[in-house]
Amino acid sequence: MKTLVSIEPVTNERDKKKFCIDCANIATQIAVFDVGGATKLEKYCDVCVKHIAKPRNSMKKKDKP
Ligand SMILES: [Zn+2]
Repeated sequence: MKTLVSIEPVTNERDKKKFCIDCANIATQIAVFDVGGATKLEKYCDVCVKHIAKPRNSMKKKDKP
């Protein structure tokens, strides 16, 4: 189970050279996930980060009966 915790802009100079894991463009955002109690960081570009930010809302709706 992977839960999106937060999305933060890339500020670290070292991270600015990393690529989006989705489309391989330069990553500008870091998504922080909670995976079974462990924190996982994934880097995304501006476009792809919007795609992962949306499902969080639909997941919340699913939880309600
Ligand atoms: Zn991307």
